Amino acid sequence: MKTVSLEAMCKKAFENGYAVGQFNINNLEWTKAVLQTAQEMNSPVILGVSEGAGKYMTGFKTVATMVDSMIESLNITVPVALHLDHGTYEGTFKAIEAGFSSVMFDGSKYPIDENIAKTQEFVALTKKLGLSMEAEVGAIGGEEDGVLGMGELADPDECQRIAGLGVTILAAGIGNIHGVYPANWQGLNFKVLADIKKKVDNKPLVLHGGTGIPDEMVKKAIALGVAKINVNTECQLVFAAAVRKYIEAGKDREGKGYDPRKLLAPGVEAIKQTVREKMILFGSVDKA
Ligand SMILES: [Zn+2]
Repeated sequence: MKTVSLEAMCKKAFENGYAVGQFNINNLEWTKAVLQTAQEMNSPVILGVSEGAGKYMTGFKTVATMVDSMIESLNITVPVALHLDHGTYEGTFKAIEAGFSSVMFDGSKYPIDENIAKTQEFVALTKKLGLSMEAEVGAIGGEEDGVLGMGELADPDECQRIAGLGVTILAAGIGNIHGVYPANWQGLNFKVLADIKKKVDNKPLVLHGGTGIPDEMVKKAIALGVAKINVNTECQLVFAAAVRKYIEAGKDREGKGYDPRKLLAPGVEAIKQTVREKMILFGSVDKA
């Protein structure tokens, strides 16, 4: 089996009240850890690749080839989507060309009319190719005033316009923040989420910045129409902490503890544990 569009998995999640996790990958170990855990949990999974991570792995084509080969060599039978995360206009074309099964075109930095025009282009192209597509609506207010604790909020009317273009899934700010949440974070804005849900009809929504949102808020967001949750920073933090512990304990100096297969193993195990916990929280276990 090869990678698939995320449309069917997210539609099923949306209709049945759970969410599919997007776990960003950075290298071979990361990819293997996420795929093996998805198989073990019998859960659908979305592998997220940012343009930076794609470049780091020597290009989207390398990533797409690696993922396809790994699905085969590890006997992965659960649905796997290979998804470009926060694609630029040029980068989105490149990921499609390289064989990604899904893309996010992030036009949130453009004025709304330009975001719509560019998003429309990708809707047409991805539909023709049988790929899924995520779009993002820009933020309103708040963030430019240095009110970091607020996170970004999308305009429900703009969400309606973008959703109406026929995108597969829609990312919209509801107070979520990428990376580690600041101590003064105000939490997710469920009023805005409910308003957006009303406006976008039956379109599944994406929650970015899934690291550090309290479990209860995650569950409430899923109940209000979030069918895809992005997790990136959390895997990086637990990976780094586990490898640090190994080295600080001097284990790389014992026997052949310097072997990268040994040195990185605790980090890989930590990623697996985080992915397991997220799949349980999101409700995607046994939903493959
Ligand atoms: Zn994001």
